[in-house]
Amino acid sequence: MIRNNEKQPLVEDKSHEAEAVGSTRSNTHFEFINESIRDFSDEKQRQQFKKSITSIKIQNTKHIDTQDLDSYITRAKKAQQHWQATAVYQRSAALLRAADNITTHRDAIAGVIIREAGKTWREADAEVCEAIDFLRYYARCAIELSIPEILNDYPGEFNEHWIEPRGIVAVIAPWNFPLAIPLGMTVAALATGNAVILKPAEQTPYIAKMLVEKLHQSGIPKDILHLAPGLGETIGAQLVSDSRISTIAFTGSRQVGLNIIKTAYDTKPDQHFIKRVICEMGGKNAIIVDDSADLDQAIVGVRDSAFGFAGQKCSACSRCIVLESIHDSFVDRLVAATKTLEVGDPINPGTDIGPLIDQEAEHKAQCYINIGHAEGHCALAMSSPLSAEPHANRPFVGPHIFTGIQQHHSLANDEIFAPVLAVIKAKTFDEAIHIANATDYKLTGGVYTRKPSHLTKAKREFNVGNLYLNRNITGALVARQPFGGFGLSGIGEKAGGVHYLRQFTVPRVCSENT
Ligand code: GLU
Repeated sequence: MIRNNEKQPLVEDKSHEAEAVGSTRSNTHFEFINESIRDFSDEKQRQQFKKSITSIKIQNTKHIDTQDLDSYITRAKKAQQHWQATAVYQRSAALLRAADNITTHRDAIAGVIIREAGKTWREADAEVCEAIDFLRYYARCAIELSIPEILNDYPGEFNEHWIEPRGIVAVIAPWNFPLAIPLGMTVAALATGNAVILKPAEQTPYIAKMLVEKLHQSGIPKDILHLAPGLGETIGAQLVSDSRISTIAFTGSRQVGLNIIKTAYDTKPDQHFIKRVICEMGGKNAIIVDDSADLDQAIVGVRDSAFGFAGQKCSACSRCIVLESIHDSFVDRLVAATKTLEVGDPINPGTDIGPLIDQEAEHKAQCYINIGHAEGHCALAMSSPLSAEPHANRPFVGPHIFTGIQQHHSLANDEIFAPVLAVIKAKTFDEAIHIANATDYKLTGGVYTRKPSHLTKAKREFNVGNLYLNRNITGALVARQPFGGFGLSGIGEKAGGVHYLRQFTVPRVCSENT
C-alpha cells in the first residue's frame, strides 16, 4: 500500500506512454465531418459533373499596380477595427454561408480548377471538398478560440487570457492548390478578426477571384478582403515589406519562403510590431517499403503519391526507399502499375495525369530527367500519348522512374515538382530510415511494413511533419491529418488543425486584484 507521505505520485504518470503511442484525446469540443467527394462511378453524378465543367471559360484577371495595393491596405486598415469588433458568431456565420455557397456550385468551381490548373476530375473535386472543410472547420474553431480562458482561481485575484487579431494579413498563395490553400489561409485570418490582402499565384488568378467573390457574397465586407493579382516580384514584394502588414501566410517554394522571412523580419522605423511569417514550403518526401510490406498496397500507394497531379504537390513522394531483398520485384510491379495510368487532357473523366502547370515546370522536369539518366537507370519513361490534346497549351510530362539512385545524387535531394520518382535501395530498415531523414525538407513520409517494431521505429525516428503508415502520403484531410512540415519545409502550426488559428492572433492576459 502506498501512503501519501511516501513521496509516490498520487496520480500515476502515464505521459511517457502517451508520448510513445500518441494520445487519444480529442482536440476540439465538436465533431467534424469532412465533405464527401463525388462518386464518379455513379453515372448520374458523372453526367452532372460533366455538364457543369464543360461550359467553363477562364477569364483574364487584370494585374493590379502598386498604387492599387496601397489603397487596398489603407482601406483594410480602416475596416479591420470594425471587423475585429464584430461578434465572432457573425464572422463565422459568414464563413459557413460561404461553405454552403461553394457547396451549391461545387462542380462548376471544380471545373475552373480543371481548366486553370490542369487537375483531373478527382483531384479538382477533392480540392473543392477541402476548401469547404476549411471554411466549416475554421469557422467553428474560431468560436472555441474566442472564449476567454479563466486561469487558476486564486483568492483575491482574477486572471484572464484571451486573444485578439493581429491586423492585416497578407496571403501569398500557390498555384497547385489554387482554391483550398489560399482559402484556408484567408479563412483562418478572417475568422480571427483580421483583414486580408490575397495575392494569388500568377498562374491561377481566376479561381482566386471566384473564391473572393464567394466570400464577399456571403457577407465578408469588401474592405476586409482584397484580391491583389500581380507579379511576385512587384506586388508580392511590396506586400511583404509594407509596414502595415502584420502577418504573412505563405505557401510556395523554399527560395521565395526564405526571402519572405528575411524581408519580413527587417523591422521598419515606422513599424510598431514584429511581423509573423507562416511558411509552408517544399518537400522531398520518401516512402520506405520493407520486405514484410503488403506489395499490393505499397505499389498503388507509391504510384499515386508520386504521380497524382503529375507530382505537383509538396506532399508528393519523390523518393522510394526499398529494401534490397524485394527491390527488383517491387520495381517491376511499380513500373507495370504506373503504365496503366492515363496521361492526357484532364477534362476527360478517364485521365489520371494531366499537364504540368507551365513551360518553366516542363523545362525543370526535363533537366532532372536528363540528370536521372546520368545518375541512375531509367526504369520507366512514359511519354504523353500523341493523341492527348494540348490542354490550354500546357506541356505534358509522363511518369518517370529512376532506379540506382544514391543518397548524394541530385535526384535524391532536389525538389523537382514533376512526375519523376527516384528509387533508392537500402540494405536494412535502419539504413532506409537514415536515407529518408537525409534531406533538409521535413514534410511528409510513409512506411509500408507489417512489422510492428518497424512501425514504432518509424514513429520515433522518421523525422517528418506528417508520417503515414501503410497508406499513401498525399491528400491530408482537414481536422483528420493537420498538415505541415518543419526543417526547411516550413514554419508554423499545421493547416487544418486546431492550433492553426492562434497564429493569426495576439495573446493577452489581464490580472485583476479583486
Ligand atoms: N495538403 C496537400 C496534401 O496533403 C498538399 C499541399 C501542397 O502541395 O502544398 O497532399
